[in-house]
Amino acid sequence: MDNELIKIISAGTPIFHEGAPGDCAYIIQSGEVEVSMLINGSNVAFAVLEKGELFGEMALIDNSFRSATAIARTDVELLAISRDYIEQKIELSDPTVRMLLQVVLERYRDVHARLHDVSESLREHESTTATSTIGSFFNQYLKLSSKLASAITSRHAHSNPSDKVVADLASTSNSIIKEINLKNALDNNEFELFYQPIVNIPEGTIAGCEALIRWNSPTLGFTPPDEFIGLAEKTGLIIPIGQWITAEACRAASEFRKHRDIYMSINLSTRQFESDSFMNDIENAAKAAGLNSDCIKLEITESILMSNPELAESCLNKLKAAGFSIAIDDFGTGYSSFSYLHRFPIDTLKIDRSFVNAMFSNERSKEIVRTLSLLAKNLNMKTIAEGIEEKNESQQLDTFGCDYGQGYRYSKPVPKDQFLALLKHKSLPAT
Ligand code: C2E
Ligand code: CA
Ligand code: CA
Repeated sequence: MDNELIKIISAGTPIFHEGAPGDCAYIIQSGEVEVSMLINGSNVAFAVLEKGELFGEMALIDNSFRSATAIARTDVELLAISRDYIEQKIELSDPTVRMLLQVVLERYRDVHARLHDVSESLREHESTTATSTIGSFFNQYLKLSSKLASAITSRHAHSNPSDKVVADLASTSNSIIKEINLKNALDNNEFELFYQPIVNIPEGTIAGCEALIRWNSPTLGFTPPDEFIGLAEKTGLIIPIGQWITAEACRAASEFRKHRDIYMSINLSTRQFESDSFMNDIENAAKAAGLNSDCIKLEITESILMSNPELAESCLNKLKAAGFSIAIDDFGTGYSSFSYLHRFPIDTLKIDRSFVNAMFSNERSKEIVRTLSLLAKNLNMKTIAEGIEEKNESQQLDTFGCDYGQGYRYSKPVPKDQFLALLKHKSLPAT
């Protein structure tokens, strides 16, 4: 795993010292960490942390010094979370949550400071009055302060966190690992586009293809798009990733078009669509690849249209005026408001695979597919049926007048070279 992300520390080595500035928080991946504080000049260990637990976050939250010392009790493997990462998360959080976090932390720091003051004065007192009462009071105080520190800083070594806390920490740890890896994935060339043919149903010829992203992460393994596109959207990483996708898909399209006159379909996400640079990005990508905009189809979902209809309308009108075509992806699974079919300049409906797959088990699904094909024809739009796996499905779609199809019956999404081979040699099954 990435060296900056995972730190291996051997038993007995300090991870950080009380009073030092903090640059990282950590989640324990394996091993045990002991946390201690200086109380009355002696180091009081108050917690042993285990796999899945977070520590070292406080100095990052309020930009202060370490309030405790952490030492590897055994050999440990730590997931390091940088200051930038935490600051960015706090910046993006709800202002009320941000305020609560600050208040809780200030209270903690306040209690911590008082503990020190009280213990200091008790120590002075002890040195001047050698009575056993004071001595025993002082010892009790030490125990109490260590317990208090433990209670407010972390769970105690022998208390068991609930299953929910363990599960939450594990899932937080996984999403942090995924996010940090995702940030580096573009620079490390870990993405690849696969291409799935879009087939003219009656002829069985390739009319276009859809670019589908793949992430081959050396640390997380093969990660399907459904498992990272949402995260890329949430973190804004979809903007640079989307720029790479459009540029790469355009380059591939110009290569494919040397063999056959096909179009390239590119998926767009909401965040990309809303970004100021989007129109420029797509026009520049097409120009750089020497492509006319009319051989690029942009796939958008119903939710993009419904979340901000005014923006969608002006953006789609601009794209249309620039010559790009627009397809509605997964049609029928979102809001399916017919109002946008006449409001927005849409060329193609992609009928979601859930309807196509259910055609022979559910009469209504079949009727929906038939009606959508007819509706599209009457509105002068094209239809693409998604997820065709069986011959009887493509035959049925042909009788409904559905123009194009996509699915494993023709081909799974394949890497660029294999798609080129499909274009050059292989004939695809017609209906
Ligand atoms: P989608 O746009 O609906 O893409 C079609 C998905 O259906 C693809 O999954 C494809 O592999 C799968 N598929 C195709 N034919 C069949 C079939 O016959 N049977 C079955 N069961 N599945 C079939 P994939 O590649 O895993 O992509 C999943 C989703 O991730 C896509 O759904 C899309 O929403 C998103 N995605 C993929 N690539 C990109 C991208 O480059 N940009 C953005 N923004 N989203 C992407
Ligand atoms: Ca799609
Ligand atoms: Ca789809």
